[in-house]
Amino acid sequence: NVQKLSELDKKHFLHPLTPPKMQYEQGPPIIVSEGNGIYIKDENGDTYIDGMSMLWNVNLGHGQEELAEAAKEQMKKLAFSSSFNGYSHEPVVRLSEKIASLTPGDLNVVFYTSGGSEANDTAFKLARYYWKCKGQPNRNKVISLKRGYHGVAVGSTSATGMPEFNNLVSSKAPDYIHAEPHLLECERGDKNAEHYDKSVRGIIEKEGAENIAAIILEPIMGAGGVFTPPEGYLQALRDLCDEHGILMITDEVICGFGRTGKKFGVDNWNVVPDMMTIAKGITSGYIPLGGVVMREKIRDALIQTDDVFFHGFTYSGHPTSCAVALKNLEIIERDNILDNVKNMEQVFKAELQKLEDKHPHVTKTRAMGLLGAFELYADRDKEEPFAPEMGAAFQVVDECFKRNLILRFIDWEGSNIVAVAPPLIINKQEIEEIFKIIDEALTAFENNLN
Ligand code: PLP
Repeated sequence: NVQKLSELDKKHFLHPLTPPKMQYEQGPPIIVSEGNGIYIKDENGDTYIDGMSMLWNVNLGHGQEELAEAAKEQMKKLAFSSSFNGYSHEPVVRLSEKIASLTPGDLNVVFYTSGGSEANDTAFKLARYYWKCKGQPNRNKVISLKRGYHGVAVGSTSATGMPEFNNLVSSKAPDYIHAEPHLLECERGDKNAEHYDKSVRGIIEKEGAENIAAIILEPIMGAGGVFTPPEGYLQALRDLCDEHGILMITDEVICGFGRTGKKFGVDNWNVVPDMMTIAKGITSGYIPLGGVVMREKIRDALIQTDDVFFHGFTYSGHPTSCAVALKNLEIIERDNILDNVKNMEQVFKAELQKLEDKHPHVTKTRAMGLLGAFELYADRDKEEPFAPEMGAAFQVVDECFKRNLILRFIDWEGSNIVAVAPPLIINKQEIEEIFKIIDEALTAFENNLN
């Protein structure tokens, strides 16, 4: 069966974010068949630890039957109903109220999508439309951060600060500008600070605030390398936006719903954005759902006219997705998942530190909640990188995979980062199990260097 599936996969399935040639020639490295908690099983019957919650999204872990039951119950009752033309249904109303109760400030109005990319494209359209309604139609530009990841739809891929995504068949739309990330002093207004012209503030000055609709950033950068901003950075950007009347959008697709130990990433710094984009953890990946949560002032601007906001997806507010999301949020509260994340963060950090103490190439270990990473350098004291062609982070992740642990390597611009982001239901013993494997994988990697 495995051989047959593999052959059919090669022939008929073009995989996302996978080199097509490699996929066509080699087929899938794993064909997953079932999951339970932090573990998944493949078609050969081998068990793996899902150290990444798959794509930072299976936050409640695999095999949560209550989520399956919620989907089944809703499907039996009303699998789908449109929310165009003002039509509504109970799951979407209940979920919107629930989200509004969780988000900070007056982020009280939700627009739904099927995932994170659509959520970010929606936020950009909303920002531009908001300014049109406010009589400032020139406010079109969107500033985002280099190495930030926002998805692959035209707007979100343009905002993504990684050239590989923008250069693909010229997929970067005009009016998206990438700033250098985390330049705290510049954002606070120090014009003499290094790289000022590349900072968000420097770019606003150059482009003119009257031309800028919004800035977008992840509270903690995920796919770009798990980078936490310097203390005060989010507030500095909030102040900068307020100074110029620019909308602040935070992309909570990874950070949202408990990943960092708080409800949302911005809650770590008590900053309230004007819009927040959500996806992944809202359903723990059990069913696709995303959205934009906006402050009331955005909705209020839209209702000043009788015009239609010409935007909406067939699956905006899908009843079954909403029912699963509601159950997912209920479980997060009932089972005190945020407390677990906070408690496990300590174990997670201690284990990361042990790696750094023991393995000479490991450095820059970091974690916020259960969103963590470490880096590999040829000489960590001099910050001398490994030769890019070596694929050092890939090698370590591959050694982990050979030992039945799934992690993720990040090698943008010659960096060698290994991300670790297990399901939020993980316990101490399971974290130790993960790090025992990473320890062995690093030893194997080091032995290969000699
Ligand atoms: N934003 C962030 C921060 C993400 O990590 C991702 C996906 O990894 C997205 C947006 C895109 O979401 P989706 O893949 O659901 O379109």
